Amino acid sequence: MTITTERVLQSDPLKIADRCDQCGAQAFVRVVFGPSRDLLFCGHHYHRNELTLVTRHPYITVRDERHKINEKPSLSANAD
Ligand SMILES: [Zn+2]
Repeated sequence: MTITTERVLQSDPLKIADRCDQCGAQAFVRVVFGPSRDLLFCGHHYHRNELTLVTRHPYITVRDERHKINEKPSLSANAD
């Protein structure tokens, strides 16, 4: 199956450059709707939309990295 490559790409860890689609903050949750459709959320916006997402789209895959939010300061936070 050729979708394997896309699945691997979409399961890559989120990076500092990945931004919430709603507010532009650093993204900590990736919601995958299909092979080429996903949304990125910061912790705040995922929390606000979580119930709607999982009830309306039960087939989605959620990569939740919110446990990393307070792990260590992001490099970009000090660079600006
Ligand atoms: Zn946000």
